[in-house]
This record gives sequence, structure tokens and C-alpha cells, in this order.
Amino acid sequence: MENKIPFRVLMGPGPSDVHPRVLRAMSTPLLGHLDPAFLTIMNETMDLLRYVFQTENKLTVAMSGTGSAGMETVFVNLVERGDKVIIGVNGLFGTRMVDVAKRCGAEVIEVHAEWGSIIDCTAVEEALKQHGDVKLVAVVHAETSTGVRQPLEQLSELVHMYGALFVCDMVTSLGGIPTNIDEYNIDAAYSGTQKCLSAPPSLSPVTFSERALHVMATRKTPVQSWYLDLSMIQSYWGEERFYHHTAPISSIYALNEALQMIKEETLEAVISRHTYFGKELQRGLENLGLSLLVEEGYRLPQLTSVCIPDKVDDVVFRKRLLEKYGIEIGGGLDSLKGKIWRIGLMGYNAKQTNVALILAAFKDVLTEQGITCK
Ligand SMILES: *Cc1c(COP(=O)(O)O)cnc(C)c1O
Repeated sequence: MENKIPFRVLMGPGPSDVHPRVLRAMSTPLLGHLDPAFLTIMNETMDLLRYVFQTENKLTVAMSGTGSAGMETVFVNLVERGDKVIIGVNGLFGTRMVDVAKRCGAEVIEVHAEWGSIIDCTAVEEALKQHGDVKLVAVVHAETSTGVRQPLEQLSELVHMYGALFVCDMVTSLGGIPTNIDEYNIDAAYSGTQKCLSAPPSLSPVTFSERALHVMATRKTPVQSWYLDLSMIQSYWGEERFYHHTAPISSIYALNEALQMIKEETLEAVISRHTYFGKELQRGLENLGLSLLVEEGYRLPQLTSVCIPDKVDDVVFRKRLLEKYGIEIGGGLDSLKGKIWRIGLMGYNAKQTNVALILAAFKDVLTEQGITCK
């Protein structure tokens, strides 16, 4: 296998590079999934997830599946047919939430903003006023398709004033910017392992507040997905240890190790590292004469979207970056296709050497493409 894998630096929108310690953890011998030693690892993983999410929520587990499985978990467990749901759509993942919620039978009210901008509180308030009796409001905290950081505090207050649940997509925010579940009063959130947690894709950490638990406990209909039904997942991860499905053992080793590393560095230091190197990269790109898509103040440090200069061919540029430097970055999606590149500095990758590498590589390949960099 090893000779089939070329050297790469994964600086796109995910997956991001995995720390060698996490890779080693994955090659540790398997335990049975009901082995008491594995139970200890699951318990420890839940505690570490609470630390990184910043929550006391009892129901904090890792769903088997990627980030999208977490998204689906939130909607299938909280929404019943006919429920009104407001979703902020300012990028690809808001669009995906709409699709998932509709498949759950929700009556979806979309609040749109331009791709690259935040969802406006006033627009959400208007939707809440106009529709009444809204079950939940969902937004994407870190829109990986645009690089926008959605402010949550004011929105959370507003949503609760109208008696709805507040749901956040935290796939790219967890471990990169503060998620502060308890402080911001977030009722349900889901994440993924391959963005800022620096583990391979395969698990989706989720957390649910007491209020969300109450909503689930008082459902009129059973959750339509057997695999993602939290009432059963809870008794698998909980004391009862009822067999539900076989946990992906090696992936849980990896997540446990990745979270352990965040704890050792401290969450605060991890977040400042992202902030620092994200700014360094953004300043460096602007110094090359490039402009950034997102307005200052709403930029994610872990995902930077930079506008492609007029004369440069998107695909040729990225191919050259990959072949000459082994660097992977992302292109734009949908309406931003061919207009932006997306550069990730996630988890293990948020470091000086990567900032220096990508800026040098950008300057070189842009020059090849006939752009004079400053
Ligand atoms: C990556 C991502 C997802 C989907 O996660 P997968 O692991 O690809 O299923 C959802 N939301 C956001 C914001 C993401 O960045």
C-alpha cells in the first residue's frame, strides 16, 4: 500500500493531515467492542469530546459515519413529519441541511444569504415571527464551502426567545474555533473527525442538550432511521452497553488519541494556534496581491477562501500545485466554482511550516501562470 501513496500536504477543506501519533493509534490491536478495556476508551472519548465541545451534556458521543451522518442524526432524532424548521443557507452545507430536513418530512423555511456572507439575525427573526411554532433553527458555524464564520450568541438568544431549538453544524469548527456549547446555549451540534481534529474521516461527534433530550423523549413517532436512533445509541455508549452496532474500533482509537493531544496542548492553545496561523496565511496572501472572499471579522482561521486572479486557470493551477509541491487545496463549489480556492489550516496542519510552504508555492505557481506577485 505505502508505495501507492504519493507525498501530499492536505491543505484543502478536509480531510486534513493526521498526526503520526494518531496513525500509530490506529494500528493498535483490536479489542472486542464490548471488552471492558474498550468501554474505558469509549468513556474517556466521551469525556474528551465534552472538553473539546465545552459542554456538560451527558449525550455526547461519536456517531459511526462521517460528518454528514452527524447532520442526519440531528435531524432524524429532533424532527417529525410536519415540523417547521428554519435553516440558514449561505453555502453548500446549509443547502445539504435543507435536503436532509426535507427528507425527514420537515416544512423547511430557508433564510438565505449570499455565499461568503453570514446569516443575518434580523432575517431569522422575521422568519420566526412570520411562521410561529418553529421547532428548530439550524445554521452552519464554519461554512467550509466559503470560509465564513457564523456568529452564534445573538442568534441563540433569539431562537430561544421564540421557544425553538438551536442547532449548529460544527464539522469544521470543532477544535479550530471555540464551540462553547453550554455558554452559547446550543441544543444540538455535530462535527467530523477529518477537519480540525486531525483524525481520519469515519466518525461524527454529536452533543445534545437536556432540552433536546426532552424533545426526543416526547416524540410521537419512532425515529425513521434505525442506525441513527439515539435512544438506542445512548444505551450502547452508556452504562447498559446494549449491543446496537459494532463500533469502528480503530477509528475510536484514532479519535481518542487526537482528542488526547488537544487536551495535552490545551484547547485554548489549540485555538490560538489556529487564530495565529490563519491570520498569517491571510496576511501573506494579501501581500501577494490576492484578495479574500470573506469580509474581515467573519473569516475562519482554519479555512481561507481566496479569489482566483482573472487570468489564472483554476484547474491548471491546482494541478500544478499538486504535482510540483504535493499540496492539495480545494476549488470553489457551485456558484463559486472557478472563482475561489479554499486553503485549509486545520488541526495538525495549522503550523508555521505549512504557511511558509503554501505562500512560497503560490508565489511560484502564480508566477509560472504569468501573474506578477508583489
Ligand atoms: C465536511 C463538512 C460536512 C460533511 O462532512 P462529511 O464528513 O464529508 O460527511 C458537513 N458540514 C460541514 C460544514 C463540512 O465542512
